[in-house]
Amino acid sequence: MSRKKGIMGGTFDPIHYGHLVTAEEVRDFFDLDEVIFVPSARPPHKIGQTLTDPEHRYLMVVLATITNPYFRVSRVEIERPGPSYSVDTVRYFRSLWGDDTEIFFITGADAFAQISGWNNPEELLRLCTFVAASRPGYTLSLPEVFRERVRVIEVSALAISSSEIRRRVRQGESIKYLLPEAVENYIYKNGLYRT
Ligand code: ATP
Ligand code: MG
Repeated sequence: MSRKKGIMGGTFDPIHYGHLVTAEEVRDFFDLDEVIFVPSARPPHKIGQTLTDPEHRYLMVVLATITNPYFRVSRVEIERPGPSYSVDTVRYFRSLWGDDTEIFFITGADAFAQISGWNNPEELLRLCTFVAASRPGYTLSLPEVFRERVRVIEVSALAISSSEIRRRVRQGESIKYLLPEAVENYIYKNGLYRT
């Protein structure tokens, strides 16, 4: 029997319920065996931006996913030197899992809309099926070549972003109910996002 696995990449600075609800809705909809969260060490599109130490971001993802038996976290991009290209990561999982596993690469529709600018999008689309999670009302316009390798799924609207959470912490505003309590506590305990 063939297997189906999801990969959810991101900076996760910090992880929040937008990421978690998306991963869970996609897992449920496509009946995936598991979803692997892959925190990105050096996302090429965020070069020049100050990111939180990857170990902090990794641990927050571990804390956030602990209560879901279908969720796991991979350190593959954290251990790999150089820019964190998704194509390298998917290639890695493709060889780890073999050819009878269908790989679903989960992104938000906003991230997916940028795919032509990613490293080697053609190979990436050959290696996996893309799931572009869009919010109700958002229409994704895609180049023709990409369309058949992409599944668009509407997820519950969650207007949450990591940048908004960082802004709130910096300005002393509440972040309660935007992310798991364990992650909230981790942020305060380690003094993240204060400056
Ligand atoms: P930032 O505000 O710093 O850009 P972010 O909230 O967009 O952070 P990322 O780590 O950049 O989080 O996103 C990782 C993946 O999760 C991307 O594919 C992105 O499109 C998706 N994503 C982020 N926020 C949401 C959300 N609220 N609902 C659905 N998908 C989301
Ligand atoms: Mg983003």
